[in-house]
Amino acid sequence: MVNMMSDVKTELKYVPTTCPYCGVGCGLNLVVQNGKCVGVEPNKRTPINEGKLCPKGASCWEFVHNPDRLTKPLIKKDGKFVEASWDEALDLIVKKFSEIYKAGGPKALGFQTSCRTVNEDCYALQKWARVGFLTNNVDNCARICHGPSVAGLSLSFGSGAATNPFEDVLNSDLIVMWGSNAVEAHPLAGRRVMQAKKKGIKIIVVDPRYSATARLADQYIRFNPSTHIALANNIMYYIVKEGLENKEFIQKRTKGFDDLKKTIEKYADATNIHGVPQETVQDFARQYAKAKNAVIIYCLGITELTTGTDNVRSMGNLALITGNVGREGTGVNPLRGQNNVQGACDMGAYPNVYSGYQKCEVPENRAKMEKAWFLKEGSLPDWYGVTLTEQINQAGDPIKAMYFMGLNPVVSYPDSNHVKRQLDKLDFCVMQDIFWTESCEYADVVLPGTCFAEKDGTFTSGERRVNRVRKAVDGPGEAKLDWEIIALLAKKMGLKGFDWKTAKDVWDDMRACTPSMFGCTYEKMEKPESVHWPCPTIEHPGTPILHREKFSAADGLGTMFGLEYRPPAEVADKEYPFTMMTGRLIFHYHTRTQTDRCSILHYDVPESYVQMNTQDAQELGVKHGDKVKITSRRGETVTTARVTDDVAPKVMYMTMHFANGVNNLTNTALDPLSKMPELKHCAVKVEKVA
Ligand code: SF4
Repeated sequence: MVNMMSDVKTELKYVPTTCPYCGVGCGLNLVVQNGKCVGVEPNKRTPINEGKLCPKGASCWEFVHNPDRLTKPLIKKDGKFVEASWDEALDLIVKKFSEIYKAGGPKALGFQTSCRTVNEDCYALQKWARVGFLTNNVDNCARICHGPSVAGLSLSFGSGAATNPFEDVLNSDLIVMWGSNAVEAHPLAGRRVMQAKKKGIKIIVVDPRYSATARLADQYIRFNPSTHIALANNIMYYIVKEGLENKEFIQKRTKGFDDLKKTIEKYADATNIHGVPQETVQDFARQYAKAKNAVIIYCLGITELTTGTDNVRSMGNLALITGNVGREGTGVNPLRGQNNVQGACDMGAYPNVYSGYQKCEVPENRAKMEKAWFLKEGSLPDWYGVTLTEQINQAGDPIKAMYFMGLNPVVSYPDSNHVKRQLDKLDFCVMQDIFWTESCEYADVVLPGTCFAEKDGTFTSGERRVNRVRKAVDGPGEAKLDWEIIALLAKKMGLKGFDWKTAKDVWDDMRACTPSMFGCTYEKMEKPESVHWPCPTIEHPGTPILHREKFSAADGLGTMFGLEYRPPAEVADKEYPFTMMTGRLIFHYHTRTQTDRCSILHYDVPESYVQMNTQDAQELGVKHGDKVKITSRRGETVTTARVTDDVAPKVMYMTMHFANGVNNLTNTALDPLSKMPELKHCAVKVEKVA
């Protein structure tokens, strides 16, 4: 587990901090020698991972001192990037953003922050956008992973966050993993599931692909891609038909049952849609409804579709109809892919809410924030800002300038060719990052930020646990703290309220205007290591399990919805006969800007591949290891075939990490509620490359 690379025998320093990768939020100690990170050591105090780390966490120190790090601001002059002073770069940004704001108003600008940077950076960016330019055009990349979780869980339970902590699966009698390959994508959450299995707790995996997690399960249910609503409705049909619904819970704690009942009656037999035999559906219904405590864990298999929000609400329906929420061993828990997906949303880097999900449309909330942020009464906008994906669509008209903090849209957003065309239309674009990415080419200014090892702050894990991040080493060259860059820009504009000296100052600024997090102090996060929000007062111990007595909605009730199955926006046809799904690898993270610079991780999976079914491969004359060209209506990619029956005939699977990879193919069609693009489903054709 410990990686030691130094041969100089000086004293070692151990800095407790949080893994910079997935949303499990494992604690670890960075090992520092001579001012450099030289390894990681398990931190046994953190309850989530109990000192264990996955391959990514164990090698997370390796990229910190990579020579490719950005060290100076860069400005594009005559088509070429040249080094600039901080003053020159920041003055140019202020001038351009101010000019564009003056000419086009608040809707001419777009601001996007990453889910891999600390809460304090996310809060700073959204505050600058709102105070400096009176705009709600601010979003974060949770939009393209768990936007439907925020929307769907809010509608079902009143709070758009996981209901229970990871280790609580050990209190379940049945664990349903639906559209989640936790063993690869969230390995230390997957470890908890494996512990549960050892304890005799039954695991059912529901997934179109026979994944590493499915291999561990007691039961694997394969269903047709993107048919979640039909399957969930069919399951609930049997629950009600056999009188297995939790009548007392439904009556006392929920609303909407009649609407749901009317809808699920139409799904008495939906095998023609989802492909699962009726005996299996009926058996699942009995197992889930009869379990004393059953939990649903889900991930992007549920969310990254044009039905994402309704898929999440279907999981909510299942939990509510059986009373499986609000106590130990139950609940509905999304697994977050990036370390701070939860936190970036919590901080108000979202187009319709301030920090702690305080709605911008509510006049009292606006008045409160105007006072806290030294703004004139009535100045903050009441309109919904434009989401991340819509900002890209609006680049050029009406959005003329965009600011990206820690994002690589050219690789990670759907339809890469579309993203490139849109970024080209901007009058002015800023990329703030730690490495040069494929997206930096489209910027006018590139600013060097700092990574997790070089800053203090907090990440909020997928279970609403706020974990401390602690500075271990200095950033490279002239790189600055990300919130500090934003504060410098704000001060150059003459804005009040950005005089932060430390990350704690930024956090306390946020706490002061965020009731659900007021009690999450840095001091409280020292002992113990972390705290779950809601935590409204200094004395409050935090809330690991939500909705115990009542739901977070204004009326205290959980809501069930009658939801109809809708097919994906683009289905396979004669011209494009295969369905392409996407997902993650245990060895890589996001667009590999960090993991590709860790030797072990790069060695294990240096290039992309596609999984295709044995029968399809035979028909196309493709052998394991052959190169294939995959084409959609939007673009093409060449990759290596892995022939396997883990995917069904006519279904293919590619990982999302590689440039010029699967996002050359993916579809920009949006979920109407959350604006999630359909990253997990598009139609493609395949040919062997001679
Ligand atoms: Fe880091 Fe996630 Fe691995 Fe834990 S499971 S070590 S948080 S990547």
